[in-house]
Amino acid sequence: MTYTKDELEKLETVKKQTIEILNNDWVVTCECGRRAHIRFFFKCLYCRQYYCYRCAEDHFGQTVQEYKEKKKERIRLLIVLKKYYEKKNKTQGRVK
Ligand SMILES: [Zn+2]
Ligand SMILES: [Zn+2]
Repeated sequence: MTYTKDELEKLETVKKQTIEILNNDWVVTCECGRRAHIRFFFKCLYCRQYYCYRCAEDHFGQTVQEYKEKKKERIRLLIVLKKYYEKKNKTQGRVK
């Protein structure tokens, strides 16, 4: 498998961050230079790189607030669907 220059740089960053986390008790440095415990960082699902709050918003193309809102909406939708199917199953049970 061949990598592009960008992909290789990304891999190097991920490698550096992983080594840093292991050697510095979960402290990691963002590409912008901010350092913090990884619990304050966000890991990208696709490139596996850790980003600080600010850079994560840029990288993921949405603010953390927006992400939380969307997550809440998804959960609300799931609850509605669950109730709908529970009701449907009950009704079907009665018919049989
Ligand atoms: Zn950053
Ligand atoms: Zn990414």
